[in-house]
Amino acid sequence: MPDRVGVPPCGQADCRACSVRDWLLEAGARGLDSATLLDDDTPGNVHCEVTICDDGDCLCQSRLKLDITGATYRETGRRSEETPMCDFSVVAALPERNVAAAVELKLGAAAWPDSGEQLQHGLRVLHDAFSGVGAHSTPRAYLAVGKQREQLQEVLDAEGFRLNYGSHTVPVEVIDCGSCINISAA
Ligand SMILES: [Zn+2]
Repeated sequence: MPDRVGVPPCGQADCRACSVRDWLLEAGARGLDSATLLDDDTPGNVHCEVTICDDGDCLCQSRLKLDITGATYRETGRRSEETPMCDFSVVAALPERNVAAAVELKLGAAAWPDSGEQLQHGLRVLHDAFSGVGAHSTPRAYLAVGKQREQLQEVLDAEGFRLNYGSHTVPVEVIDCGSCINISAA
């Protein structure tokens, strides 16, 4: 079982994960202290949340809210239009690799393919950020849902659905609201 939550950014000058974090903050993302990610823009008092944890080997981690209005990575060339965007990203440094995770939260069942499109844009931004600082990364895409998790995962698996990450592709992992995302296993 994962045994740690909320690893902070390490702040080391040569840390690629921190460089990616700075790149994203500069582009308009918002850093989060909490390890619990929450869809607090959903109306009402009920939320979908997930917690980011690890096996004790995570060297550096940052959690960022990506779906910020006005972020430069959402520009489309038309002033009134922005690209869709997933809710959050997690950038982590592990001993052998950097992990770039896109996270979308849905209190109910996910609207598809809209949720896939949101995650795809999140991965695009993460790939640009890692490329921008000259670092490699292992991508992951998580869709947390409050309803119909198994049904959606079955459909995606049957289709062989994958998102793009540079020249690589990534499956969407559908998880339940309330889950922990073990970034060490990612
Ligand atoms: Zn760091």
